[in-house]
Amino acid sequence: MALSDITRKLFNFGQSGGNKVEYLLAGALGLIIVGALALTIHTSFGGGSRGKNRPIVFECTQCHHQFEQKAEDLYDMEGMYGGMEIPMLDCPSCGAQKSALLTTRCPACEKHFISQSTLMQVQYGASGQMPPEDVRDVCTHCGQDILQWYRDNRRR
Ligand SMILES: [Zn+2]
Ligand SMILES: [Zn+2]
Repeated sequence: MALSDITRKLFNFGQSGGNKVEYLLAGALGLIIVGALALTIHTSFGGGSRGKNRPIVFECTQCHHQFEQKAEDLYDMEGMYGGMEIPMLDCPSCGAQKSALLTTRCPACEKHFISQSTLMQVQYGASGQMPPEDVRDVCTHCGQDILQWYRDNRRR
């Protein structure tokens, strides 16, 4: 179905009083939007075409030392990407084992920080539970709400 068909149906949605098909269409379009947003965020956070040669930044949760790790080195490490596990590295600065976590790059100030959702995933992953979905990632340097930033910048 062409996108124009969907938008036309959505436009008619309010006037026709709504039947089941139109509810479904509205739901499907919502899913598409959410999916596109998730993909955008994923791409910006390390995937994508530029991401391949860009080093991945880790931060030690003990001493907050930040260091770079090449993506190809990470993939070489055995068991590093086993399932949904979040990679944790030994800190080269204070020597703490498995203390360094993947950071997120703040789109506003371009500094790296450990996102709240990463921390959540680590905490909940250890106990085998699903992390809550309403976790907000806020930059620890400038206070920018990451999701909000992408929402604002998509509007332009
Ligand atoms: Zn450290
Ligand atoms: Zn920031």
